[in-house]
Amino acid sequence: MIIFKEVSAITRYLEARRQEGLHIGFVPTMGALHEGHLSLVRRCRGNAGITVCSIFVNPTQFNDAADFAKYPVTIASDIRMLENEGCDILFMPTVEEVYPGGTVASRHYDLGYLETVLEGSYRPGHFQGVCQVVHRLLEIVAPHSLYLGQKDFQQCMVLKKLVELLDLRVEVVIGETLREPSGLAMSSRNLRLSDDEKRRATAIYQSLLQIKQNLYSSTAGELAAGARARLLGEGFGRIDYVAIADARTLQVLDDAEKPAPSVPLVALVAAFMGEVRLIDNMLLN
Ligand code: AMP
Repeated sequence: MIIFKEVSAITRYLEARRQEGLHIGFVPTMGALHEGHLSLVRRCRGNAGITVCSIFVNPTQFNDAADFAKYPVTIASDIRMLENEGCDILFMPTVEEVYPGGTVASRHYDLGYLETVLEGSYRPGHFQGVCQVVHRLLEIVAPHSLYLGQKDFQQCMVLKKLVELLDLRVEVVIGETLREPSGLAMSSRNLRLSDDEKRRATAIYQSLLQIKQNLYSSTAGELAAGARARLLGEGFGRIDYVAIADARTLQVLDDAEKPAPSVPLVALVAAFMGEVRLIDNMLLN
């Protein structure tokens, strides 16, 4: 695996590979890698001539300074895992390389409704930061395919919209969410949980399953209330949202609405276990 830290060097290298006709696949990450990330790298390797992974903890997508400061960093093990997985290129830039003109955004991405709900409303500015960094990374790597995880369901929708807004010819591939045997969705933030918190955090998965199992027998409000009760019972603190939404548009169902089999639905949760904010989602039908 070749590790690049400078934009000019990786740009030059990848341009040469592109000239050779190689298909470039790209897996952007913030590091503290786990099997979920590696599943994307594996899928990318299966499809692409050259697999590029980036590790960059992007300051502009953190709306909470403490969350940024405490974001786990495990570079040595990340490099080892990527090498074992057969990743070709690791791009590990500094903030200055990514944002030579400073981190203040030079444009606004018109994400419309997507930015007004769920993660968008609870993390103001988050998706603008995500678009800012992915736009920049796509400029640098210029991949043919971009690999994203369904774990960040709304982010996948936002980035598909970004690709559309920028009129890029990049294929977006979404990988399924990898979970611990307990059902807990793998996440870099799980490193900040104690063993006991990790055990209790499986309530997110259980509450999503509960919604799925009772989907057509209750209203959206009743389903969400049942999930909230389960989360609170297992020691979750603040619950930002439990929502059931149209999986195509993220239009959130009103409390009184009954889920209909004709509409593809997704349940989404964001809640705090101690100081750590966890998100998860599940396709329901
Ligand atoms: P992150 O490092 O959290 O920014 O994630 C980098 C990429 O890995 C994103 O596309 C995530 O959606 C994806 N990802 C994170 N967790 C998982 C998981 N448990 N299973 C599959 N993909 C994941």
